[in-house]
Amino acid sequence: MSQESGGGLKKKLEKDASVIYALDKDLRITYCNEAWDRFAIENGGRGLERERQSGRSVMEVVPRPLQPFFEKGYRRALQKRENWEHTYECSSSTIYRTYRMAAYPDPESSGLVVVNSLITERPLTSEHGSAKAASDSVYVDSYGLITVCCHCRRTHRAGSIGAWDWVPAYVENPPPMVSHGICEVCMNLYYSVIY
Ligand SMILES: [Zn+2]
Repeated sequence: MSQESGGGLKKKLEKDASVIYALDKDLRITYCNEAWDRFAIENGGRGLERERQSGRSVMEVVPRPLQPFFEKGYRRALQKRENWEHTYECSSSTIYRTYRMAAYPDPESSGLVVVNSLITERPLTSEHGSAKAASDSVYVDSYGLITVCCHCRRTHRAGSIGAWDWVPAYVENPPPMVSHGICEVCMNLYYSVIY
């Protein structure tokens, strides 16, 4: 898509369940993965189809009051070539959702790769009863193991390819049946030389 970024990495992130996009050094969108479109549809974002995003400033999809915050965070990550993480809420009328955004320096360009992982999701109606919606049953695989990425500490959703969530409970208290794996994002961003 962009001449600047080789595209090899983007191809590998295409099927990841997290919404992933890439920015150039001027904060213009150079790539959005498949999950971008799913998210846009679920949130009624007409005109937000990923084909129409290339070349747009990412600030056009950031709510206006938050633009200075995101601009500052992205620019600092670009200048220092450092990761920048931020947790935000993006609820619908019925579902409470929080996400963890991680912006990584793109090893293939002078820009950033931005990964948005689901942290929690629960119905808005039952305030306390469903606080453990991120229950073990979602994450325990057929071997009885919970796989956590040894680099970014996201937890693999059992049986779902490319679905890694930020589960604070597991980060604070690693489950006894933990298995250390590596997610596609970290494998490609940090360890592609090894794999
Ligand atoms: Zn990871």
